[in-house]
Amino acid sequence: MNSAMPKQTEREPEIDQRFDAVVVGAGFAGMYMLHCLRQQGFSARVYEAGDGVGGTWYWNRYPGARCDVESLQYSYSFSEELDQEWHWSEKYSPQPEILAYANHVADRFDLRRDIRFETRVTAATFDEAANRWQIETDRGDRVSARFCIMAVGCLSAANIPPFEGIDEFEGPIHHTGEWPQEGVDFSGKRVGVIGTGSSGIQSIPIIAQQAETLTVFQRTPNYAVPAWNQEMDPEYERSIKTDYPALRAKARARPTGIFFPFNIKPALEDTPEERERQYQTYWDRGGLPFLGAYGDLLFEKDANETAAEFARRKIRAVVDDPDVADLLCPDDIFGCKRLCVDTGYYETYNLPHVKLVDVSKKPIERITKGGIVTDGIEYEVDMIVCATGFAAMTGSFEKIKITGRDGLPLTRKWEAGPRTYLGLSTVGFPNFFMITGPGSPSVLANMIQSIEQHADWMVDCMSHMRDIGAETIEPTQKYEDDWVEHVNEVAAISLRSTCSSWYVGANIPGRPRVFMPYIGGFPIYVQKCNEVMTNGYEGFSFEAGADTNAPPKIRNTDRWHVELDMDVLSPAAVAARRIPMI
Ligand code: FAD
Ligand code: NAP
Repeated sequence: MNSAMPKQTEREPEIDQRFDAVVVGAGFAGMYMLHCLRQQGFSARVYEAGDGVGGTWYWNRYPGARCDVESLQYSYSFSEELDQEWHWSEKYSPQPEILAYANHVADRFDLRRDIRFETRVTAATFDEAANRWQIETDRGDRVSARFCIMAVGCLSAANIPPFEGIDEFEGPIHHTGEWPQEGVDFSGKRVGVIGTGSSGIQSIPIIAQQAETLTVFQRTPNYAVPAWNQEMDPEYERSIKTDYPALRAKARARPTGIFFPFNIKPALEDTPEERERQYQTYWDRGGLPFLGAYGDLLFEKDANETAAEFARRKIRAVVDDPDVADLLCPDDIFGCKRLCVDTGYYETYNLPHVKLVDVSKKPIERITKGGIVTDGIEYEVDMIVCATGFAAMTGSFEKIKITGRDGLPLTRKWEAGPRTYLGLSTVGFPNFFMITGPGSPSVLANMIQSIEQHADWMVDCMSHMRDIGAETIEPTQKYEDDWVEHVNEVAAISLRSTCSSWYVGANIPGRPRVFMPYIGGFPIYVQKCNEVMTNGYEGFSFEAGADTNAPPKIRNTDRWHVELDMDVLSPAAVAARRIPMI
């Protein structure tokens, strides 16, 4: 098996160093958290497993990797200068450009000096006597910090299914999320790709261009809407940059934290002819905004089926072989699993050297020295690409031995599914924060906005604790239980909670089935976080010498006065307001 891990450069372990905060991970979350901590005068150490910043965009170097939220929105918003000076070359920028942006941010804000790269945090233990976290790494570091902040990512623990015989395969096996830095040459190779989620759908057309043959092993077909990616239109860029904060504000007011045209009307209120025109208009815009064609697509099954059937017709119109087209047509809820955004995906199956193998009924039996076996047939390949996704939301937490009060392991606390208050913190783990943790909008929103809002909230909370002399903060059991219930209640309203997606942990056998992200919508969630703060951190308890009645000073969080765009209220958002939050 190939590994994307770089060779470790020599350095002395850090022993007994003391920090205000240790941050785990230097993706967009860890980077911004470090910037905030420094601004408020906190000392911090960031540990990052990779040898550079960027997280997702450091690891996912597979061909075709790019964002599917417009780059002008999928970017930090905390610095107007940064917004103005950075130029995105495409509507949906490719991975190298997003990684270059992360590196630019690291340089511009001088982040690297507090980050230790090529260092994996292995354990974090709360020392109750000292009220400090003891952090251990695979490089022998043993440091302590008042706060332990997890910026480990929602989609960062690669899932390679334990296929029988996988170690016997004589060629390379690459997971899309651990792609070799030097790239992969497919020319003249017989390539097998396992998995047809977003990563498979982005990489398959490009691998097909290079490989001698390509065999795709598909367990479940996914819906994909064309990206219609294009070079950045200078006029459009100029118009956004004339008033960038206006775009950010409009985006934050949306349930997804992304601004795009959204039609609130229920799908079945239109005639079939009107619907066809409407879907075509949104199809022509491309990408995730297709979900904005009607307001009830993710809430009403009959409405959803009209979009699903439109998408299936598009697949049949592109794919020449009707049997292959049938295999590629999903029969489940449109957008229930994360909607994919493609460039030339379906067209790829018209190429004579590309084959689609259905493993939905007869799973992959084993991997041999030179092939993949299913249904008794061995498909010979020289190279395997696992586009098999991630142990989403909690996978990177599970890889660290995290121990809270009374020796409680986080894995035990979460064995029936993650339990958090606001996705920010969890009972029994004082001074332990999670950026885009389970129970927050995280993967259902523009993630960079979610990251910034969390980091701003956390650093304000830490500053408040310093102001009032509090040693620890921890949610109370009742508020955590009520939040978990609220997250579940709101999820149940959406069709998204009904299928076997990674949102519910169903992509990996044995994981508890719980809808992990908060689906009530980004602005409602932000309002909730603000309320909790202005009410003196309602639902949290402080410990030691705290003047808990002192009103919190709002610092970074001040910029998150998010209006709710009443014109695009989703049923989940309505429910989120109706169902008591705490
Ligand atoms: P990550 O970027 O995952 O960074 C976490 C970091 O923590 C990693 O570098 C990892 O090495 C490190 N780490 C983990 N555990 C440890 C440990 N124990 N010790 C040390 N370091 C550790 N979101 C969108 O909103 N729009 C998009 O278009 C979009 N496209 C995506 C495309 C791909 C291919 C993938 C996989 C995800 C995409 N996402 C997208 C989600 C994306 O993950 C987030 O947008 C964002 O980049 C997450 O940043 P992060 O810092 O929270 O986590
Ligand atoms: P994914 O959506 O979980 O897809 C994994 C694929 O592997 C699925 O088709 C899955 O089939 C298949 N698979 C898993 N185990 C298998 C097994 N044992 N046998 C056969 N097939 C198996 O993972 P991903 O494609 O990496 O995407 C994860 C998320 O990252 C996305 O949903 C998105 O949020 C983000 N992402 C975004 C972009 C972008 O466009 N910007 C690109 C990549 C990723 P089943 O469906 O049957 O489980």
